[in-house]
Amino acid sequence: MFSRLSEKLGDIAHKLRGAARVSEADLDATLREMRLALLEADVALPVTRHLMSEVRERALGAEVAKSLQPGQVIIKILNDVLADVLGGQRRDLDLAKIPSVILLCGLQGAGKTTTAGKLARLLASQGKKVALTSVDATRPAAREQLQVLAGQVDVPYISGEGSTAAKMAKSAVKQAGSEGLHVLILDTAGRQVVDDELMAEIKDVADTVAASERLLVLDSMTGQTALQIAEQFHAAVNMSGCVLTKTDADVRGGAALSVAHSTGVAIRYVGTGEKIDAFEAFDPQRMAGRILG
Ligand code: GDP
Repeated sequence: MFSRLSEKLGDIAHKLRGAARVSEADLDATLREMRLALLEADVALPVTRHLMSEVRERALGAEVAKSLQPGQVIIKILNDVLADVLGGQRRDLDLAKIPSVILLCGLQGAGKTTTAGKLARLLASQGKKVALTSVDATRPAAREQLQVLAGQVDVPYISGEGSTAAKMAKSAVKQAGSEGLHVLILDTAGRQVVDDELMAEIKDVADTVAASERLLVLDSMTGQTALQIAEQFHAAVNMSGCVLTKTDADVRGGAALSVAHSTGVAIRYVGTGEKIDAFEAFDPQRMAGRILG
């Protein structure tokens, strides 16, 4: 992920590292290069503007021109600004409640079901008693897919009863509670595109179960439309975070930056492959470092 952005910004960082001094004119020239690199990497224009003005302001405040290693100072500033935009510090899931419900939503094919299995495996490995449930009321195949995954990662699958997604969710949460489980990961139905019916259904589920975490599963290959999708889901269910899938694909990465900045919804995990263990907690500082090469 971020390969192209990393390559471009890495070049700029490399040039800066050797610079003995950086004038304000040099700084502006560097910022112009950065701006192009960000736009080419699919970072939305308002986000690029924000990044640039933050870097410029902090660079001038840090009196880059007078510092002994001006290039290093700018790189450090860019690193900090990128990390801030990506969500600042790492944050763990809020799983204080018993049972805590983690609601996963997103478009069909984004990787929701796979993510449900991966997250269940990860939390179980951390000693949590986890169960999986799907509240896709219309597609039994989707429920079966999750049931199979539950078996693979060795966690129970709960079949919620009821004719609607919200009813199924409510009954699954009740069962999880009576079985003393810590976490119930709830997979919802996806659609090809965002539509009112889907949003109403997810909102209904979210309101009914008072989910501790509401995570949007977002395909990192979605590009610029990722932002629009994220905003629509955020408006419906007030997302508490986002899982970025398929980061193993060679994508430009700008969409992730744009989503994190524009919605304020931090990326919490990334999917790094099709295998069940190809999943990791997202670390903004480390990711910023990776972008800068
Ligand atoms: P859903 O419709 O949102 O539930 O999507 P699925 O979980 O069924 O995933 C759709 C496809 O994406 C499947 O072929 C998954 O194997 C694949 N997939 C999910 N996450 C990742 C990932 O992080 N990397 C890669 N390469 N493929 C993924």
